Amino acid sequence: MSFNLNKLLRPHILTIAPYTSARDEYTGKIGVFLDANENPYGSVTDGNHNRYPDPYQIDLKSKLSEIKGIAPDQIFLGNGSDEAIDLLFRALCNPGKDNVILLPPTYGMYEVSAAINDVETRKVALTEDFQLQPKKILEKVDGNTKIIFVCSPNNPSGNKVKREDILFLIKNFTGVVVVDEAYIDFSDEPSFITELDENPNLLVMQTFSKAWGLASLRLGMAFASKEIISILNKIKPPYNISGLTQETVLEALGNLEKVNRMITDILEERDYLEDKLIQFPFVQKIFPSQANFLLVKMPHATQIYNELIERKVIVRNRAKVLLCEDCLRISVGTREENIAFLDALEKVSSKII
Ligand SMILES: *Cc1c(COP(=O)(O)O)cnc(C)c1O
Repeated sequence: MSFNLNKLLRPHILTIAPYTSARDEYTGKIGVFLDANENPYGSVTDGNHNRYPDPYQIDLKSKLSEIKGIAPDQIFLGNGSDEAIDLLFRALCNPGKDNVILLPPTYGMYEVSAAINDVETRKVALTEDFQLQPKKILEKVDGNTKIIFVCSPNNPSGNKVKREDILFLIKNFTGVVVVDEAYIDFSDEPSFITELDENPNLLVMQTFSKAWGLASLRLGMAFASKEIISILNKIKPPYNISGLTQETVLEALGNLEKVNRMITDILEERDYLEDKLIQFPFVQKIFPSQANFLLVKMPHATQIYNELIERKVIVRNRAKVLLCEDCLRISVGTREENIAFLDALEKVSSKII
C-alpha cells in the first residue's frame, strides 16, 4: 500500500492559485512601504501593530526548527491546532462524500470540524483502558476514508496510546494519520516527530496552549512532510498568525528553562492531587495520566460537579461521555487551587454520599 498525496487531495486544491500578498511580491525589509494600505502613523494603542505580519512566520519557524529537530518547511503554524484540523478537512475531504475515523472518547474538535465541513465520521471506540483497536479501525476504512485522528496522550482519558498500535495504523492506512500531541510535554513518551522521515502519511500536531501557557495567543503546530505542509500553507488565510503572537512566542522559545520548570511543577502537583484523591473513599478510580489533568471516576459525578460549581470550583463533567461514565476531568492547578478543589470536594462529598 502506498501513500499518494496528490490522489488523496480534493482535486481542486491542486490547481488553486494562493492569494499573493503585498509581502509576497516585495520581500525586502527596508524601504518606503506604500504597498499594503497600512496606516503610516502607527497604531491607536501604545505598541505599534500597523504593519502586516510575516505570512510565513520565518523567524519563528527557524527557531522552532532548532528546538524540534525538524526542517522549517515541515512546520505549519495555525491559529490554534483547530485551524490545522479545519484546513486538513478542507484539503482532503470532499463534503458529503469522504469520511474520517475518530476514536472516542477523544477531543471534541475533530467531530465539530468534520460536521462544519459536512464530512462523515466513523467511530471506533477505544478499549476499556483507552487503547486502540487497530484491526477494527482498519475494517472501517473504505476508498473514501481520508484521515484517522489519534490523540496521545488522549483527552479526556490522559493515557498515552501504545506506540506500536499507532505505527500499525500509519503503516497500513493509505490516508493521513494525525497524531495529536497537545499533551506530549507532560508525557514520558517521545514525540512521533521522529517517525516523520519514514512515514509520508503522518502528521503530528502540538500546541502552545498547554505546557507553554499561551492558550490565549492561539498558536498550534503541525509537523509533516514538506508536501503536506506546503498544501496547508497554500490554503491558509495569508496572515493567520498575528505579529504579536509571533513576537511573543519567539521570546517564549528563548526561555526553555521556564517551560521546563512549569512542567516539573505541574507534574508534581499532578502527583499531589492523585495522592489526595486516592484517600477519598468514594473515589473509584483515578486513570493513569500522562497529561496535565486527571480523569477521576466517582459515583454521583454529575451531582458532585454541580455542587462544586456552587462553591466556585469548576471541573469538566465527562459523565455522559462514552467509557467515562461517572467521571470528572480535573485540570492540575497550582497548590492553592488544588487545595481549594480538595476542600470543596470534601464538603460536597459528605453532603452527597
Ligand atoms: C487543548 C487541546 C488542543 C489545543 O488546541 P488549540 O487550538 O491549539 O488551543 C489540541 N488537541 C487536544 C487533544 C487538546 O486537548
